[in-house]
Amino acid sequence: MKTLNTISQTKQFLLEAKKEGKSIGFVPTMGALHEGHLTLMRRAKKENDLLAVSVFVNPIQFNNPEDLKKYPRDLEKDKQLLKSVGCDVVFAPTVDEMYPEEKVTEHFDFGKLETVMEGAFRPGHFNGVAVVVKRLFNIITPDKAYFGEKDFQQLAIIKQLVKMENMPLEIVPCAIVRESDGLAMSSRNERLTPDERALAPFIHQTLQQAVRLKTEKSPLEIVQWVTDKFKEQPAFTLEYFELADAVFLQPVKRWEKAKGTIGFVAAFLGDVRLIDNIRFY
Ligand code: AMP
Repeated sequence: MKTLNTISQTKQFLLEAKKEGKSIGFVPTMGALHEGHLTLMRRAKKENDLLAVSVFVNPIQFNNPEDLKKYPRDLEKDKQLLKSVGCDVVFAPTVDEMYPEEKVTEHFDFGKLETVMEGAFRPGHFNGVAVVVKRLFNIITPDKAYFGEKDFQQLAIIKQLVKMENMPLEIVPCAIVRESDGLAMSSRNERLTPDERALAPFIHQTLQQAVRLKTEKSPLEIVQWVTDKFKEQPAFTLEYFELADAVFLQPVKRWEKAKGTIGFVAAFLGDVRLIDNIRFY
């Protein structure tokens, strides 16, 4: 496994592979790898000749400086895990390597996709994601790039980015990987105290219960029901629970069966912000 820190080395390495006719599967990450990441990587390795992974905590997608500061980082441990899934090349740049300019000015317009949920509560977040992903795609030139449905709205943004920029690659969505108690795996889970970790499965459990009520309640009633459930749990501060269509991610008043309906949640547990989602239709 090659670990490269510069753009030019990485481009060179992958150019050679391309010349040999090898296909490239790519998984962008912010490190602190867990089984969720590794599941994407095993799939990418299986479906391509070469697996490329980036490990980069992207400062411009953090709207909360404290969150950026506390984001877990352990490249040595990550490298061991990357070896175990047969990763061929790790791209782990510095911030200066990715952002040589003094200030990033590139701006994308994702329309209504970025005005809801994560876009509304984390101003600038998706622009930061789009800037880094576009740069990473240009460096890695993957045939396929793998993204988790854990970050469903991010996935929609990336699909839109690829369309708008006419990028010649396939975006492969991957199902959410959960702990055995239902908690969606996340690097941020590392920051939960043991007590908070014990409470965390409440999020998925509540979403599952809400899904079971879908035939007897309207979307509006489900939103109220979930909101009330969170109020009963003082350890959590609910940021939002929304039912939205699965394509444009706009709030639904009636069950949207053609496009699909997904329930999206963001909540603080202590000072850790967790997100999750579940399909209703
Ligand atoms: P991150 O390192 O959090 O930026 O995540 C890198 C990629 O892994 C993103 O495409 C995430 O959606 C995906 N991912 C993170 N956690 C999970 C999970 N629990 N299940 C599936 N995909 C995940």
